[in-house]
Amino acid sequence: MSALMTNRRKVTAGNWKMNVLPSQIEGFINELKEKVKNDNVDVIICPIFVSLPAAISACKGTNIKVGAQNMHWEEKGAFTGEVSPTMLKNLQVEYVIIGHSERRQYFAETDETVNKKVHSALKHGLKPIVCVGETLEQREQGITSDLLRIQTKIALKDLTGEQVKGLIIAYEPIWAIGTGKTATPDDANNAIVAIREVVGEMYKQDVAQSIRIQYGGSVNAANAKELFAMSDIDGGLVGGASLKAEDFAVIVNS
Ligand code: PEP
Repeated sequence: MSALMTNRRKVTAGNWKMNVLPSQIEGFINELKEKVKNDNVDVIICPIFVSLPAAISACKGTNIKVGAQNMHWEEKGAFTGEVSPTMLKNLQVEYVIIGHSERRQYFAETDETVNKKVHSALKHGLKPIVCVGETLEQREQGITSDLLRIQTKIALKDLTGEQVKGLIIAYEPIWAIGTGKTATPDDANNAIVAIREVVGEMYKQDVAQSIRIQYGGSVNAANAKELFAMSDIDGGLVGGASLKAEDFAVIVNS
């Protein structure tokens, strides 16, 4: 499958994780916005919940969109410490990362809760960035594509083709996240082709060819160009390197 067959727009998102204080947001975005004025790519930043209002305000009038790093699937209720899709929507947040491996590892998220969150996000008009990816052990066992198939199938369960076209999948091998070890462009592309094939089996080919699939895992200013030049990699989900405006801008423009 090739990007030549479609016209998928590149999309690069910065996952700031538990970094950047609310008081630092405006300065960061003022620096970033001049560097990422690029009509050919969607640019998203995902700050911590408490920084979302400052980010929404600082990104007004720029081409930078704002996403959250997580959400609950319920609209409201007795879920102490959680944030709902209606609350994100109320703030004018557009995107939401769902099922990041750190959420799966430290907060017991499962493929099933990912699916619930994806349904809820779409129902409330939020665009999900759904994370999938294998551990080093799973890679060494040779079960990467089996695992990606299962994760993708459960994440997308009971969604319509039209809904799937509107979401983003981030292929993030867990061994590459925050480790400085990047998947080779070929390996990353092959894994993304495998994900696209599953989507093609579940839906029509036009859905598989429309859905944007990012690579994430130690993307940096030096390796982004080569990764994003691959046929099926539609941009990146970037952690550490998105915390420096200069580096993130190089990645966005790669
Ligand atoms: C991430 O957190 O999604 C990520 C890919 O992190 P890093 O770029 O730091 O590996």
